[in-house]
Amino acid sequence: MPDATPVVTRIAPSPTGFMHIGTARTALFNWLYARGRGGKFLLRIEDTDRERSTPEATEAILKGMRWLGLDWDGDAVSQFERAARHAEVAHALLARGAAYKCFSTPEEITAFREAARAEGRNTNFQSPWRDADPASHPDLPYVIRIRAPREGETVIDDAVQGSVRWKNADLDDMILLRSDGTPTYMLAVVVDDVDMGVTHVIRGDDHLANAARQSLIYKAMDWPLPVYAHIPLILGPDGKKLSKRHGATGVDEYQKMGYPAAAMRNYLARLGWSHGDAEFFSDAQALEWFDLDGINKSAARFDFKKLENLCGQHIAAAEDADLMGEIVAYLSATDAAPLTDTQADLLSSAMYCLKERAKTFGELLENAHFALGQRPFEPDEKAAKALDPVSRGILTELTPHLRSASWTREGLEMAISNFAEGENIKLGKIAPPLRAALAGRSVTPSIFDMMLVIGREETIDRVRDAAGRNGD
Ligand code: GLU
Repeated sequence: MPDATPVVTRIAPSPTGFMHIGTARTALFNWLYARGRGGKFLLRIEDTDRERSTPEATEAILKGMRWLGLDWDGDAVSQFERAARHAEVAHALLARGAAYKCFSTPEEITAFREAARAEGRNTNFQSPWRDADPASHPDLPYVIRIRAPREGETVIDDAVQGSVRWKNADLDDMILLRSDGTPTYMLAVVVDDVDMGVTHVIRGDDHLANAARQSLIYKAMDWPLPVYAHIPLILGPDGKKLSKRHGATGVDEYQKMGYPAAAMRNYLARLGWSHGDAEFFSDAQALEWFDLDGINKSAARFDFKKLENLCGQHIAAAEDADLMGEIVAYLSATDAAPLTDTQADLLSSAMYCLKERAKTFGELLENAHFALGQRPFEPDEKAAKALDPVSRGILTELTPHLRSASWTREGLEMAISNFAEGENIKLGKIAPPLRAALAGRSVTPSIFDMMLVIGREETIDRVRDAAGRNGD
């Protein structure tokens, strides 16, 4: 049954200079959940850490999101810019008696903790100001702390983790507003989520304990809790936390490796979520199928082979025009020379025979060398071996047959097989030198595809170049 309230999800990354693949997966889950239900997907930049939060770090996130095709509604929200509103809520909590001013100094807090540790007690700070008469307040700097319950339990009914309980004795009177008037992260997240109308908080399970503490603010303000779904982390293939050691961790690196965004979406969706045994699927299918029920409870392991495999399938299934757009972006992301108009035209006409065999755009462009390169085609080592004197002789003999062939697949197949028959040589003697002549490479699309793409004149010119080469 569809929910009565429209779904609003968000991704709330802290700008750290790059976009982690785990953040991309969390963003994708939120995007799928909202978009699949006609809801909204919002972006909030948690830029309260002023040292790390540079415009470049934020741009890296926006870029990653755009590349992945995860469009968000409205403008990205800056958490830092909402500090006054966060402070307002801290004061509202104070007015409700759900928070209090605490004048304890850092030294007093440390002394409290040390004594508690020595006595084997809970080291959570218990402020003497919690129940102090406001008339006794000194004219000194203070922080605002929440008045957390000390008895009973706090329970989070998590859509992935189930019912998770904390003893309230373990949840401290966390600070909401620092003595310089700046809000803490705990307060800012809650206020922003409420003001942005977020109904579902889907995020990494490293935030599960935060949910318990954040729920105290919701309760104190009589705000309804969002649905929580804390998703397990992504591990490397060896079961350890995914890190540089395993391979790329930044979204930008995947773009530079030439992976198509659609395959990344497919792969990241499967990383910790499943729908029956579906492995290869489209965005439309993922949007239809995605649900919190399908999220796995255990951590997912990154499988680079599987990702590459899906990349190959997505390249093969993509529309040529979309691939062209992605390749242009890939070249720009890798600081490679852009395609000339002629190259773009040739690549476009060659796409049908390139897209079936490449797992990355780099591989696709490598196979497209025959279309993108220019005469004279310098053969690589293997191709040069196929251009021995006998083979070059064969190419010379072949030229007039190419001139008179009808320039269709059937026409070319017929011309070459007639030539082979007439000369009494096997096709296997003709294809390698012809391939070397057309591409300068030994691994290429079929010779017929290459000839069809580049046309008769260019084919003959390349065959002549190769036939006339000196040396073995
Ligand atoms: N800014 C937090 C992070 O990047 C996310 C906070 C949240 O989703 O509530 O891990």
